Amino acid sequence: MKCTILYDNEEGKGLENGWGFSAYIEVHGKKILFDTGGDGAALLNNMKKLSINPKEIDMIFISHGHGDHTGGLSAVLQETENPRLYIPASASMLEKIAEGKAEVVKVSESMEISKGIWSTGELRGIEQSLVVSTEKGNVIICGCSHPGLDVIIESAKKFGKVYGVIGGFHGFSKLEALEGVDFIVPCHCTVNKLNILEKFPKTASKCKTGSVFEI
Ligand SMILES: [Zn+2]
Ligand SMILES: [Zn+2]
Repeated sequence: MKCTILYDNEEGKGLENGWGFSAYIEVHGKKILFDTGGDGAALLNNMKKLSINPKEIDMIFISHGHGDHTGGLSAVLQETENPRLYIPASASMLEKIAEGKAEVVKVSESMEISKGIWSTGELRGIEQSLVVSTEKGNVIICGCSHPGLDVIIESAKKFGKVYGVIGGFHGFSKLEALEGVDFIVPCHCTVNKLNILEKFPKTASKCKTGSVFEI
């Protein structure tokens, strides 16, 4: 699987940055836009610079309804060709934005989206995370981790061994929950970014707009 960071708080050379998160996941023949950052023009601009064609997007996966993850949705839906849009039930206000432009799936319970691609389901009534299988194990992509990263990791275990986790970890501080995870990429709102990079020097990597992770 290939994960390209399209939008992040950390600056990427020649790219537009801002408070928010978006990533482009290519896995099992599918192209998935995970969250849409805070600003649509910046997101589309970054996609262009990174040679990503919005018309090729099969699915858009929205982790939760906060503006720094949904701000670019309306703009990106002008450029896509009827993708499937997965939103957590708590963000059903996004349905209106997608009317006539995407096939909307409202997610409450955990589900298999496509072969080897799952949603954890909406956890704690706020947020879903994406889980994809790779040869090394499953990788979680998370938006802000409002339910708690430890809760997300626990819930993802039902799909198989968790190999990696990429995304915003917010105020997560129970760092011992990351022991045994071999690929850790703290992005976006992660308060303890430096602590995580220091505590897991062999397994944790820095994240910025334009970073590419291949597993
Ligand atoms: Zn949030
Ligand atoms: Zn956020």
